[in-house]
Amino acid sequence: MSLEERDLKYVWHPCSQMKDYEDMPPIPIERGKGVYLYDIYGKEYIDIVSSWWCNLLGHCNPVITESIKNQLDKLEHVIFANFTHEGAVTLCEELVQVLPKGLTKFNFSDNGSAAVECALKMAFQYHYQTGKPEKIRFMYLSDGYHGETMGALSVGAMDLYAKIYKPMLMDTIQIEAPDCYRCPHGKNRKTCQCQCFIKAEKMFEEYAKETAGIIVEPLLQGSAGMRIYPPLYLKKLRSLCDEYDVLLIADEIATGFGRTGKMFACDHAEITPDLMCLSKGLTGGYMPMSLTVTTEKIYHAFYADYNEGKAFMHSHTYSGNPLGCSAALGVLKVLKEENILQIAQKNADYLSKRMNEEFGNHKNVGEIRSIGLIHAMELVEDKGSKKPFDSGLRVGYQVYKEALKDGLILRPLGNVLYFNPPLTITPQELDKAIGIAKKAMDTCLTLIEKN
Ligand SMILES: *Cc1c(COP(=O)(O)O)cnc(C)c1O
Repeated sequence: MSLEERDLKYVWHPCSQMKDYEDMPPIPIERGKGVYLYDIYGKEYIDIVSSWWCNLLGHCNPVITESIKNQLDKLEHVIFANFTHEGAVTLCEELVQVLPKGLTKFNFSDNGSAAVECALKMAFQYHYQTGKPEKIRFMYLSDGYHGETMGALSVGAMDLYAKIYKPMLMDTIQIEAPDCYRCPHGKNRKTCQCQCFIKAEKMFEEYAKETAGIIVEPLLQGSAGMRIYPPLYLKKLRSLCDEYDVLLIADEIATGFGRTGKMFACDHAEITPDLMCLSKGLTGGYMPMSLTVTTEKIYHAFYADYNEGKAFMHSHTYSGNPLGCSAALGVLKVLKEENILQIAQKNADYLSKRMNEEFGNHKNVGEIRSIGLIHAMELVEDKGSKKPFDSGLRVGYQVYKEALKDGLILRPLGNVLYFNPPLTITPQELDKAIGIAKKAMDTCLTLIEKN
């Protein structure tokens, strides 16, 4: 039996209709190097989506690998209640240097959704313990995504993931998110003054009294199709949260560690959230680890004699895992010593230029949008009217399948194709990816037009 057949006998793949695997079996990967993955037959794939956005610095990065290997010979794991270890402490010390000012307390989990759950519980308990027990609800932006667990789905807006579970979810408050491509106020990215922020103001007026916190993906709504909104929105939200004593939770799981051109997306708006969630790039995609980072103020609302019952009684077995910490320390070392943010900026400029050359006038490319090295193209039936393709056509999925033939992993978000590669990709590799993407798009779109 082939590896593919053996896989399908037992494995239930994430976020997949398994029936699709009938005509597209899983691709068996043997090894990776830099931006490339290689399957067991020796075929090469450009990992332009960073293996679900987490591979920050290339596959098998020697510095990160070395860091984990060194740790592996010393200590693989230790209970993190009442115990500690060098890696975790050093990691916090180093992160404090690069995080927005004021974020100084770190709670460890092992995946992004868990970091979000942790933030929600902290926000709720903070108010409970500071005399505002009526603050029990959460706000979130439409089209937001924060993970797959029940709490995270409750503050997630995407029907694709949440709809069927609605009866099980918390009662949350949705605020209409900015939609800069199809701006309801008729503005464009240059003329925008965040007129849409009035929607947030109205919802705060009505519901802030009962609201513990609001969670947002700062500047980039990733799963929604790499939707990008301006820093001004985030700045205004920070002020609004202060005014109404609503905690601001920044989910930087996808945006952290240089993805948006600055270390964190919040840096573009020069704000400090009350809670920040980190994962994905945190370990460069090496180990499952996440952090919920917060301020002294929130931390101290939990600090009391044990019998007062104010402790945050929340734990994960793998909290503070030493191998995860060693991977994260490797990432920070590479970011710092190899000037990665500068390299990423050069790559971003190059990619913007090349994408506009190749796709700027394409009649089915509605918008090319970018932040940092992340670039996305929204495919539409008609550029002028921005009319979307019929979702039943699965245009993005078709282009993805076509590009795979030529060795490009262009896994789309609906009809949005995007590049979110390791920051260390080279201009030559970007050119190669653009070439394959263009060919795949032309093939699929010509076929669709004919039918
Ligand atoms: C990926 C992601 C999550 C969930 O992280 P998991 O590790 O997949 O649970 C949450 N929020 C954002 C913004 C993400 O991109």
